[in-house]
Amino acid sequence: MARRPIIAGNWKMNMTRAQAAQLITELKPLVADADAEVVICVPYTDIDTAVTLCKGSNIKVGAENVAWAEKGAFTGEISADMLLELGTEYVIIGHSERRQYFGETDASVNARLKTAIAKGLKPIVCVGETLEERESGKTDDVIETQVKGAFDGVSAEDAAKVVIAYEPVWAIGTGKTATSEQAEETIKAIRGVMAGLYGAAVADAVRIQYGGSMNPKNVKELMAQPDIDGGLIGGASLKAVDFSQVVNYKD
Ligand code: PEP
Repeated sequence: MARRPIIAGNWKMNMTRAQAAQLITELKPLVADADAEVVICVPYTDIDTAVTLCKGSNIKVGAENVAWAEKGAFTGEISADMLLELGTEYVIIGHSERRQYFGETDASVNARLKTAIAKGLKPIVCVGETLEERESGKTDDVIETQVKGAFDGVSAEDAAKVVIAYEPVWAIGTGKTATSEQAEETIKAIRGVMAGLYGAAVADAVRIQYGGSMNPKNVKELMAQPDIDGGLIGGASLKAVDFSQVVNYKD
């Protein structure tokens, strides 16, 4: 089955509204003819601006997190309804920076994922091992635990529509990219976990991105791997030309 590549930017905590408007205005014409699905996941305060500016273009807008609760006493959280009202389509869940700095766990990732699905947001669920875990040969076990934890209680029909981002923690923002063989091997293992949970058809349908210092120079080789269906791009998504070169990796 052909899986449409998806390249998503993760702006993290960067870009004021004015900077966001400038970047999107520059980006739109550069990615207008892309074959891949193009997404920018932006800070909450940029969503309104991004949705307005991306209207009528091929760029879809995502958030960087979503609350598991529908509403209520959850100071600092943003609900799915709030995101949907602004026109948000995608949402990143369980990014390693959330796990590392904000106490996100497989259980909270699972709760956020189920809420996103129930509300109709399109989730990008992040998994990935630390350097210590890789060096001690635990990568496959860590990935399996994270994937099983994230998808606990999610139906096969819903699981097939979730995007998974494999992001080795040691490759995020460090300039160290996993080799295309390492990325392919672990992404293949993730597909194997999905096959175990849901069967071959879902494993074949689910899109799995690589993330971790993906950039215009290494994107072609990574995207040539049979199981890599796209990228989650941090640093290189903050410059219109760089991000467009990643999006247009086939050119
Ligand atoms: C990310 O934030 O998901 C990421 C992959 O960052 P970078 O591309 O900067 O490594």
